Amino acid sequence: MSEHQITTQNRFSQPFNAGRQNWKWQLKNRLQSIEDLEQWINLTDNEREGIRKTGDLFRLQITPYYASLMDPDDPQCPVRRQVVPTLDELEDDFDIHDLDPLEEQAHSPVKNLVHNYRDRVAFCVVNRCASYCRYCLRKRMVDDQEHTMNRMEVKAGIEYIRSRTEIRDVLLTGGDPLLLSDSQLEWIVTELRSIPHVELIRIGSRFPVFNPYRITDELCRLLEANHPVWFNTHFNHINEITEDAALAMDRLSKAGVPIGNQTVLLKGINNTAEALGDLFRELVRIRVRPYYLYQANLIGGTRHFRTSIEEGMELMKALRGRISGFAIPDYVLDTPHGKVPLNPNGFVKRDGDHVTVRAYGGELWDEYNPQK
Ligand SMILES: *Cc1c(COP(=O)(O)O)cnc(C)c1O
Repeated sequence: MSEHQITTQNRFSQPFNAGRQNWKWQLKNRLQSIEDLEQWINLTDNEREGIRKTGDLFRLQITPYYASLMDPDDPQCPVRRQVVPTLDELEDDFDIHDLDPLEEQAHSPVKNLVHNYRDRVAFCVVNRCASYCRYCLRKRMVDDQEHTMNRMEVKAGIEYIRSRTEIRDVLLTGGDPLLLSDSQLEWIVTELRSIPHVELIRIGSRFPVFNPYRITDELCRLLEANHPVWFNTHFNHINEITEDAALAMDRLSKAGVPIGNQTVLLKGINNTAEALGDLFRELVRIRVRPYYLYQANLIGGTRHFRTSIEEGMELMKALRGRISGFAIPDYVLDTPHGKVPLNPNGFVKRDGDHVTVRAYGGELWDEYNPQK
C-alpha cells in the first residue's frame, strides 16, 4: 500500500502482534470490568462510578484493539467517551427504559425483522456486538433473552422475506451480524440469495471499527460469492481510522463490496466542522463513502451525547464547499416513519421567471428558470 494512503496511525495505538491481530482473540479478551479498564487507561471517579452504576442497565465490553485507541489520560478522548460509561448516563430527561423511539417493535411482523419501507427490511440477526456504544439505538435488545435469535427464528425471518415479493433489499444488522461465524453467515446469505426477488444484501457492522481483523480473506470470499453485497460501517472519529482498519476496508473493497459509513452526531465527540470534515476526508481516502450522519436518537441515558437538530444543520452547511462532494453524507433524523433528510437547501425563492439560490459561500445567484 502506498505511503500516501494512510497516515493516521493513532498515537496511542500499541501495535498488536500477529496472534492478537485475530478477531477471535480480540473477542475473547474484551475488557468488561474496572480492573480490565485500569490496565489501559487512568479511570476518573466519574467513570469508575459510572461503570459500577450502569452495570445493570447496559453491558460494558471493549475489544483490546479499540481500547488501544483510547487516550489513557484524557477522559474527553473521543474514542474513550463512546465506550466507557459515566454517571451522565443516569441523568436524562428520558426514561432510561424508554428504549424504542423508532417503534421498531411495532414494525416487526416477525421477531427482530423491521419492515418499515415497502421494498426493504432491517433484519436484526444477532443481539450482541463486538463492543458496546454507550449511545446504542438498540440497547433494549442487548442481553435480552427476548431478542436472542436461534436458527428457527432466523429461518422465520427468511421465510417472511421469501413470502413478500416486494422486498428487494435486505439489511442484516443487529447487534452486529459479523459476530456470527462464517458458516452461520454463509447460511443466511445463501438462503437470501436463493430468493429471486431479493436483489441486494447489505451488512451493517461496526467490526471494522472495533475489531477489523474480522474482515478476513475468507469472509471477503464468502461475500464476493453472493454479490451484490453492500456494506455499511460506523466510524465516528478520525482517530478510529487506523492502518489495520484501512487494511480491512481495502480487503473488502477488493472483493467488490461497496462500503458506506454511518456516523452518529455526538456532542463532544464529533460535533464540530473540523472533526466531521477530518473524519469524512479520511474515510474517502480509505475508499469508504460517508452515507448518513445521524441525529442522535432519544435513547434513555444519552442526553449528554445529543446536540440540537439546528446545530447538526449548521455543521452540514459548514461542510458544503469545504470537502469533496462525495465526502458529505446526508444528515438524517430517523423516525418511526423512516429517515428524514435535514440537509441544507440552497433554494431561496422564485421571482417570476427566475429562481434565487444561495451558494455555499453565501453568494446569491439568480437562475433563469421559467415555470413551464
Ligand atoms: C435505515 C433503515 C433501512 C435502510 O434505509 P436506507 O435509507 O435505504 O439506507 C431499512 N429499514 C429500516 C427499518 C431502517 O431503519
